[in-house]
Amino acid sequence: MAPKKNGFSAFLLHCKNEELKNGRNINMKDLVDELEPIWKDMNDEKKNVYKKMAAELNARQTKAHTPQQIERLHENSDDYWMMQTYVEKMFQFIPDNDQLLKRKFMLLHINCHAHDGEQYYFPAEISALEFSLLKGVTRMYHKIIGISKIYPKGFAGGMREHSDKFHQISCWDEHSDNYNEILLELLSFLKDGQVFNSDLVEGKLDLPYMFTIETESGSNMMNAKSSLETLYSTVFPEHTSERYKSLFKMGSVERLFNEILKRFNIHLDERYIRSGMTIHDILESDIYGHGLGCMYHELKEIAYKCSKSRILQWMSNMCKHIHDYTGLELIPGRHVAVLLRDGSRMIIENEEVPLTRTDLKMKSLTEYIDYQEDF
Ligand SMILES: [Zn+2]
Repeated sequence: MAPKKNGFSAFLLHCKNEELKNGRNINMKDLVDELEPIWKDMNDEKKNVYKKMAAELNARQTKAHTPQQIERLHENSDDYWMMQTYVEKMFQFIPDNDQLLKRKFMLLHINCHAHDGEQYYFPAEISALEFSLLKGVTRMYHKIIGISKIYPKGFAGGMREHSDKFHQISCWDEHSDNYNEILLELLSFLKDGQVFNSDLVEGKLDLPYMFTIETESGSNMMNAKSSLETLYSTVFPEHTSERYKSLFKMGSVERLFNEILKRFNIHLDERYIRSGMTIHDILESDIYGHGLGCMYHELKEIAYKCSKSRILQWMSNMCKHIHDYTGLELIPGRHVAVLLRDGSRMIIENEEVPLTRTDLKMKSLTEYIDYQEDF
């Protein structure tokens, strides 16, 4: 979630974009140090250009973000800087584009049982997806979680308002609520190996970064992290908060996408930034119709609100954008959805599922013809 922009932050954004174009990878903190004196000396006429730009950007954002959310982002700004540094570092250790294509990344979207006023977040729907640019989706996790027995009394009204608006998973309905089992299942998926309670008691578990949307109404990076921490502390109330705060490492999918674009030398056109068409807009564009959501949301015909369809959409949008500039090969059903006869869409959620004749170890069609001709 982006804080409100002022003239200086718009100037900063503009310059950061220029730096990227020139292939200079400067971190935000250094850039701020460099630009502050320039901003101070700038005349009002020039400053107004950036103030206007900031106002345009804010106009697009105000609908999406409440003051509480903005406050919360600032509270977590240390985490935010750390994450940004981490994502940049991670890319420094990917030696070449070949390795980048093979590298697996984890995407995450959480719809929350939430009371925004009270800053209370508990997962209602968790979707996670592992993918690589080379293969598309490799593994996927999805769960709807109930809270009817434990939600804080007095929060029901606010929680209902939130669920009506964002995902329609009611806090009163019964869904899976064996939290220990759910937690272990999620952690096992993230680790790609069985996780036991004893691993958590010892505190040795090292999970990959999970990339989720930074700026979105209803769910964002900090709420997602907070909801996972609440789930954890419900299972292990005796563990200290340091334990679970370092366990769930959240990254911004916008940052991830930006780093990938930089590596492929695809730079965002300046005019997109001016008109507010950002990386975020590319990620969120082309919301899929039915077919990509979970059964619960498909039946309610609101697949576009489903966590599952959201992360599939981000992955597809990233791959399609990269494909447009680099010729990255897109495999239907793996990177992008296949359109089915009834108009719905489908992506295979596990790389082990065979899709092509080669996957099925079948002979190619021409070989069959040759075979027939032999007789
Ligand atoms: Zn769903």
